Amino acid sequence: MESVLLEELKNIRIWEKQYTFDLHTHTKASDGFYAPKDLVELAHHKRIDVLGITDHDTCLGVYEAIEAGKQYGLHIVAGIELSTMWLGRQIHITGLAINPDDEKLNALIQLQKDKRHARAIKIGEQLAKCGFKDAYERTKAMAQDGATLTRGNFAAFLFEQGAAPTIDKCFKQYLARGCIGYVMADWVSIGEAIEAIKGAGGIAILAHPKRYNINNKWLLKLITEFKQAGGEGMEVSGAMQASGERELLASLCQKHELYASCGSDFHREKAYLDLGINLTIPPLATPIWHHPKFKIEC
Ligand code: AMP
Ligand code: MN
Ligand code: MN
Ligand code: MN
Repeated sequence: MESVLLEELKNIRIWEKQYTFDLHTHTKASDGFYAPKDLVELAHHKRIDVLGITDHDTCLGVYEAIEAGKQYGLHIVAGIELSTMWLGRQIHITGLAINPDDEKLNALIQLQKDKRHARAIKIGEQLAKCGFKDAYERTKAMAQDGATLTRGNFAAFLFEQGAAPTIDKCFKQYLARGCIGYVMADWVSIGEAIEAIKGAGGIAILAHPKRYNINNKWLLKLITEFKQAGGEGMEVSGAMQASGERELLASLCQKHELYASCGSDFHREKAYLDLGINLTIPPLATPIWHHPKFKIEC
């Protein structure tokens, strides 16, 4: 795929003054509600200028988003969100400005796809034990062909079945750690994910660092190991953050020499979570779009 580096990109001051970035979003290529073109249309209406498409373990939504981006005059950043395993925890690494056609990245995607398939079948078996027959097949049928199935897809299926009053409650009752539908997965390591992202020309970013339920000592250990493995950025600004969280993350970016990213992690409309809202990066951190490899596709 051909990439275009806009002249404007070189003029950082223009970007900062005029552009709104949302660099972490999901489409129907994984567990997002909107087709890529519809997400781009929505982003256009929300006055977003630069939209990163970061579906779980797939780049399939990127192509349609680029076409829609051309139609709406919205810049698209090709991305992915890879699930990794670190000391028994699931850590998400986003890759931005990647080449979605890269062979080695796609080999890693296939590996994750196989792991996800085996896990989804097991989740289906677990959910059958509490009365949700054929949960895997029916969750798959609700999703787009070839989409990555995550616990988010299972939560949407359970919600449709009336398992709980909200998708969030379905997740917490059936799919969260310790629940009947929670199945461990043997994702790739952080190092493998970073290597694949960098090999595909992209920038590896530690996603939503405060959502791993670890204390600050472990967060520091995670950031240190991520950086040692070649990671170059960290999400600092997101939706629904505790007060002082982004300032803390911005100072950690500065300390560990990481670029700061921002993204809503939008999947669907939800209270307190919208596309492109309140994603400013504190001034002490260097925004990810200053990274020499940051690029847009249209
Ligand atoms: P997985 O990668 O299969 O473990 O699934 C992770 C996905 O589950 C996340 O990306 C979210 O889309 C979804 N998820 C996580 N927590 C919740 C929640 N509380 N309510 C609904 N969906 C959630
Ligand atoms: Mn998700
Ligand atoms: Mn995530
Ligand atoms: Mn995400």
